Amino acid sequence: MNIIAIDIGGTEIKYGLVSSRGEVIFSSSLLTEASKGVEQLLEKIYGIVEELKTNRILGIAVSATGQIDGSIGKVVGGTDLIPGWIGTNLVEILEKRYSVPAVLENDVNCAALGEMWMGAAKGKENFLCLTIGTGIGGGIVLKGELLRGESSVAAEFGHIQIVKNGLQCGCGNRGCYQSYASTTALLRLAEEKTGKKLNGKEIFDEVHKNNKKYIEIVNEWADYLTDGLSTLIYIFNPSLIVIGGGVSKQGEFLKSIFQKSLEKKVMKNYLDILEIKMAERGNDAGMLGASYLLLEKIK
Ligand SMILES: [Zn+2]
Repeated sequence: MNIIAIDIGGTEIKYGLVSSRGEVIFSSSLLTEASKGVEQLLEKIYGIVEELKTNRILGIAVSATGQIDGSIGKVVGGTDLIPGWIGTNLVEILEKRYSVPAVLENDVNCAALGEMWMGAAKGKENFLCLTIGTGIGGGIVLKGELLRGESSVAAEFGHIQIVKNGLQCGCGNRGCYQSYASTTALLRLAEEKTGKKLNGKEIFDEVHKNNKKYIEIVNEWADYLTDGLSTLIYIFNPSLIVIGGGVSKQGEFLKSIFQKSLEKKVMKNYLDILEIKMAERGNDAGMLGASYLLLEKIK
């Protein structure tokens, strides 16, 4: 039997069918059109469910952006990207409408579970997941389960302060981790130092051409990234850190930069048992992780 899996991002909704063995049987996408608000978004979700619903559906598994209390399936905070989204109890709405079990969980938490079920974190029980993009998102898995925290908004790694009196962040504080170590930060750093606006891929292309200026820029950015990682390593003593987001395409190359940088900052016994891996399930991780949670719920 299959699960209807939906991954709601700021620009795109990915959706599909996931089997109870973790195979993505079908997938497609449509635009979120976030600014049109929650009513429009719900209509899109209903449309997806109607399209994929058969009498052999196990339930509806949703991964979404924002601060989400996954224990009840409600959006509890975040930015106002989708007007009306905060406060929505999607699980209640879906279960009432379709009389099947549903789950809703934050996208990075879902990505972590997706990687544990069918990707880079297979067989791991204590690991962290970081998605590096516009900001930095986090997921913490301890003893095979998500660490959600008292009000289910734990693992917001992006807002850990790493620079005193640093750059202003949207959260209200200055010097947040994501202002220095996100992809956005890498692009900003490159523009400041070269006067040229390159995208992430172009920056790494320059690095691979041995362009010294860009090697310096990437090393400086990686230094900020591992400043945050070293704090997380000392707190959680993880066996694995999975890095997701666009930069994960840089694979082994980036991994070795992070590792070398960490060796200067973290005690050896923490690093001896630690693996750094790039995410393996990319676009599917959110759908897989949400489906994993649904299976846990109906167990
Ligand atoms: Zn912040």
